[in-house]
Amino acid sequence: MDAAAAASVARRVAATVRPDIRALSAYAVGHADDGIKLDAMENPYGLPDQVREAIAAAARATPLNRYPAARHDALETAVRAAFGVPDAAALLFGNGSDELISLVIQACCAPGDVVLSPVPSFVMFDLSARFHHARFIGVPLTPDFGFDLPAMLAAIRTHRPKVVFLAVPNNPTGGRWPDEAIEAVLAAAPGLVVIDEAYQPFADGTWMPRAATLENAVVLRTLSKIGLAGLRFGYLAGAPAWIAEIDKLRPPYNVDVLTEAVMLAVLRHKDVLDEQARRLRASRDDLARDLAALPGVTVYPSSANFLLARFSGKMGGNAVHQALKTRKIRVRNFPGGEAALADCLRISLGTPDEHAALIAALRDILA
Ligand SMILES: *Cc1c(COP(=O)(O)O)cnc(C)c1O
Repeated sequence: MDAAAAASVARRVAATVRPDIRALSAYAVGHADDGIKLDAMENPYGLPDQVREAIAAAARATPLNRYPAARHDALETAVRAAFGVPDAAALLFGNGSDELISLVIQACCAPGDVVLSPVPSFVMFDLSARFHHARFIGVPLTPDFGFDLPAMLAAIRTHRPKVVFLAVPNNPTGGRWPDEAIEAVLAAAPGLVVIDEAYQPFADGTWMPRAATLENAVVLRTLSKIGLAGLRFGYLAGAPAWIAEIDKLRPPYNVDVLTEAVMLAVLRHKDVLDEQARRLRASRDDLARDLAALPGVTVYPSSANFLLARFSGKMGGNAVHQALKTRKIRVRNFPGGEAALADCLRISLGTPDEHAALIAALRDILA
């Protein structure tokens, strides 16, 4: 394409694509094939050969020339059994839980309606609201990343949100909001509350047993953080009347036949995922202690498979992030982001060797 044609394309794009979309910068997904990857809350362990063989066999036996079936009855049964979804709750499957976040907002929000969440929290709550012409209201956490219940209740009264998202435990801060605080939000919320339990396998407690009986809340889960981030599978559980409406927005065939086949194979070995999650969780306190022993480092309490740490010594968070990157150790920083996260790095739990390499590198960098 010559320069004149490219300029013409640019004019057409500018005249056609929504201004608010053009003003966004694309969601930054870090990708690296080498080094130590502790930036995306992935399970570092991978699946054992026996499970990989079962997956390969399931994939081989799956015809790809036919559309997926309209219903996923076998997978529903398997998901209910594996994750304790109550019989009376309805289930909706998504292409990752990101898709389900989007569907909830589409189902509930007319243009200008409010989506509300504590901040900092999962950025997709904000982005997805904007994509669907809803208005996002973020309610700041306390300075040490606690849940500010009075501020949440005041914001709910003022803004009457159609949807409230509560990530429990919260990303990127790691804390699990107290049940009583969530109860108070449920009592005050005029619309739907989505309890996003992406990190539940690393925490104590879950709202899942109440998924069928909560009148204005649904429970969201994903397989991504326990070992299947590449697969794209999430599920939403709630009272049938809620799920039936949200299901109307679901693109047909959003869960493809390979995902279904692989999920069924993996869930027969769910004990492997549980054991890996247990191992990761058991390593969390040691890593937190080693990080907190470094000069100028504050580590926040975490119930997830990551730790948020603030680097307020001679070197700030961005400089430490860069120095780690030079050594091919990837963690997450928040460069353009919120003041609350200044100098914070989010470090996913890895293997014991990866933790040792990280701590050795940080000792060197901060010396
Ligand atoms: C990672 C994450 C998700 C997204 O999960 P996918 O299923 O991979 O789309 C949802 N919610 C929170 C809070 C997360 O941190």
